[in-house]
Amino acid sequence: MALVYPNSYQVGMGNLGFQVLYKAINSHPRFLAERFFLPDSSSRSGASVQVPMSEESSRPLSDFAVIAFSVPFEMDYAAVPGILISAGIEPLQKDRSAQLPLILAGGVSVSMNPEPLAPFLDLAFIGELEEDIEGGLLFSALADILDASDRRSDSKDDLLEKLRNIPGVYVPSAYSFDFDEAGQIREIQVKPGFPHRVRAVKRLSPDSGVPVSVLFSPEAEFGDSLLVETNRGCGRGCRFCASGWIHRPVRHVALSRFHDDISLAVAHGKTVGLIGSDLAGHPQLEEVLARILELGGNFSLSSIRPEGLTPEVIRLMARSGQKTATLAPETASSRMKQIIGKEIPSARFHDLVGKLVSAGIPNIRFYFMVGLPTETDEDVEAISEFVLESRRVFVNASRPLGRIGKISVQLSPFVPKPWTPFQWAAMPPASLLEKRLRTIKEALRKEPNIVVRTESVQDAVAQAVLSRGDRRISGAILRQACARGRWLGAFKEEGLDVGRYAHREQSVAEILPWDVTDHGISKETLAQVFLKAIGHKVEAL
Ligand code: SF4
Repeated sequence: MALVYPNSYQVGMGNLGFQVLYKAINSHPRFLAERFFLPDSSSRSGASVQVPMSEESSRPLSDFAVIAFSVPFEMDYAAVPGILISAGIEPLQKDRSAQLPLILAGGVSVSMNPEPLAPFLDLAFIGELEEDIEGGLLFSALADILDASDRRSDSKDDLLEKLRNIPGVYVPSAYSFDFDEAGQIREIQVKPGFPHRVRAVKRLSPDSGVPVSVLFSPEAEFGDSLLVETNRGCGRGCRFCASGWIHRPVRHVALSRFHDDISLAVAHGKTVGLIGSDLAGHPQLEEVLARILELGGNFSLSSIRPEGLTPEVIRLMARSGQKTATLAPETASSRMKQIIGKEIPSARFHDLVGKLVSAGIPNIRFYFMVGLPTETDEDVEAISEFVLESRRVFVNASRPLGRIGKISVQLSPFVPKPWTPFQWAAMPPASLLEKRLRTIKEALRKEPNIVVRTESVQDAVAQAVLSRGDRRISGAILRQACARGRWLGAFKEEGLDVGRYAHREQSVAEILPWDVTDHGISKETLAQVFLKAIGHKVEAL
């Protein structure tokens, strides 16, 4: 089986989900995986003239009976048809008459909304694919299909029919979308026998393997770290955050289950990178960090909520030599905090800045979003004020230490994501987003020790189209695969209305492209949370 990451080796090998899949497939008694990446990071859009060859044996992609794409991010979509084209494989499913190779894709973005990539795929996997590999039905069915002596006499449709009732399997060719004059989905027609909604598979068994890195490469991001996913999901349910909704229930992994992995990694001089959207909620966080230090190792933490930063955790972070602490207030005014459902008082963050710096962690990184639903100029100004107050605390705490680090401020435009209460929200016009980013940058420009980085507004708008898109946007994805350019240019060339996909507040009554999936949360619940948040009267769906 070819396992393809639609980005460079460096990025793909730094992705824990990809590594976990690689290990799971190679542990399967009937499959072996060989890895493929884009030739280099400059080919991120997908355009590539090089024939993709596997890392393991330099076999061409077209040699493989099953090609599985692991796609966690929408901005990598063009590389899916791009790699197929480079391998001499028809990118569109309708043009591939041969039964094999069978082309499938999974990953967070595909699970949230498989429709933008639907025309390229034989099937998409909704949910956590490693759960299926370890004991589910899809991989067994695939192995049976590949072993069957009559497989060449079956049509592709017959073959896909065999997979239709397997949990997590979405067969795009069995679904057709009817659109009205306004461009909204009027109806989704489903071939008899296929499910109307495909329920996401979740890794719930306490015996499932622990997601840890299996390959180390100096060229890869985090290549010198053992990455450990200590939890999946987050019960906070912030209204913009996919992790807070699609990965429910929250699952923490006990230290005893990855203790041997960290011992071995530390013995080999690796740093332990702890990953999880709810690190703060891990019941053994202090114990895990202390154990890594006792073993003689070091650790790094992804962004962590303030309640996880206990005095002991801060002390252990400093002892581990961590130079930067990452905090994600997202917004700063009380009003916006309430609207997004992440109500952590600013004073709590300021207090933490002082404690982190005093403990010996010299740098602070903040994540903020602009363009959230109902945001006003005052809400945006509150972000600059928050950072200035943080700087005041930061300088006061740094002074006695005789050194000063920096505060990095990462500003990103809000992107509405499927399966969150804000999935219906409008992204403000690009000009307003640019203005708001400029306002914050300008307010902080002359402040020493503050570095502001902003994400590209154009990329964020493209991401919104790719996130909320339907299968009509696949033409633009294919265009990007063939001729690398700007996403917004590709949408325009294909006659797509970017405003309709990205900048329109959608009605909660609309049929959505991702209504073919089911992540275990009702649309009614999401709609109620959304309408309450933005102050609409809650209406019945
Ligand atoms: S933003 Fe953070 S705290 Fe909120 S749901 Fe997402 S992961 Fe959890």
